[in-house]
Amino acid sequence: MSMTCRDLVDFLMAYLDEELPEAQRASFEEHLGMCPPCVAYLDTYRETVALGKAVCSEDDSLPDDVPEALVQAILTARRK
Ligand SMILES: [Zn+2]
Repeated sequence: MSMTCRDLVDFLMAYLDEELPEAQRASFEEHLGMCPPCVAYLDTYRETVALGKAVCSEDDSLPDDVPEALVQAILTARRK
């Protein structure tokens, strides 16, 4: 069974945390192989997560080019 874009979004977190079971991981990657928009989405998401980690570990030394609104959006998302 192949994944839809919606399924991919649902599994995105688990995939990045490497918590997906092998079978789902295989369908996830199969979908990425045929759906460039999802690859782009995954890249954006990964960057946002990386940025979120940077925000949390280095509160005092944020890069100057991170817009305050984005920082707030990340912090809000993490509180869920
Ligand atoms: Zn897709």
